[in-house]
Amino acid sequence: MSSRTVLSLCLILLVGVPSAALAEKRVALTFDDVPRSAGAFLSPDERTARIIAALEESGVEQAAFFVNPGNLSTADGANGDAHISAYVAAGHVIANHSFSHPHLRTSDVETYLADIDRAEAWLKGREGYRPWFRFPYLDEGGRDLDKRDAIRADLAARGLRNGYVTADGSDWHLEQLTLDAKAAGKTINMTQLARLYIGAQLSALEYHDQLARDTIGRSPAHVLLMHETDLAALFLPELVDEMRKQGWTIIAAEEAYADPIAAEQPDVPYAYGTLIGSMAWERDVPPPAYPLWMSTDMMSLLFDRRVVEKAAETED
Ligand SMILES: [Zn+2]
Repeated sequence: MSSRTVLSLCLILLVGVPSAALAEKRVALTFDDVPRSAGAFLSPDERTARIIAALEESGVEQAAFFVNPGNLSTADGANGDAHISAYVAAGHVIANHSFSHPHLRTSDVETYLADIDRAEAWLKGREGYRPWFRFPYLDEGGRDLDKRDAIRADLAARGLRNGYVTADGSDWHLEQLTLDAKAAGKTINMTQLARLYIGAQLSALEYHDQLARDTIGRSPAHVLLMHETDLAALFLPELVDEMRKQGWTIIAAEEAYADPIAAEQPDVPYAYGTLIGSMAWERDVPPPAYPLWMSTDMMSLLFDRRVVEKAAETED
């Protein structure tokens, strides 16, 4: 060992390697809109069974499912109660995503709170319940900062914490494109669909991780926004494999929400989106290069070019 190497080692021991350089990348998986409308391939019963099996197969011990009890009375919500219980029985947790999925921007505070309370009345006391509220559409009031602050105070008064996300790969958009293609009788290349789905989730994670490191100097425990979709049911094991290959560790939702960033309440001119995005905005941190997938228009274009079978297109 050269003296220079010894000196370097001593310096590392003395100064310490920056924790962000050593810290692993951690992320919790969360699924919204439960019970969600049916996808292109599976019945809601099959979808739930597959999501549970996929999480188990992938060794994901605790995902969070954000529930809209209002969906239980829809046709696709049949057995939704049993699906929610099955997620909990498999070790996962459930939380509030409002009763009827309203936009805060277009609701008044009183109506919005009543909708939260209606969901809370259904959820509270159930096994697996956690006191987290996820804003539908990640809409925390937009430009109406008085409304934002009123809801923040009212959530706190109810003992509810913000079930924020730190990364969003627009999985709902890909699910919708798939539904539309299927309804139009197009043939779907499942390998390409899986690639696009996995690419979008990972790209969103890496983007937000870089933004977080630029903003707070470390990689926080991330919360990935996904939905209860057929794409999750079909591609989760592959997605989790790929995440691990890229250095991600899947953690429990509870562990993610124990991160110090959970206390952040960014004050930015437009209350919307990922927590990391708002924190970066608040601190004037320039965002890293925008990945293709972050735009739903670009995702639509990639879907048309890669996922819809060319053979089917030429038949028209
Ligand atoms: Zn939602």
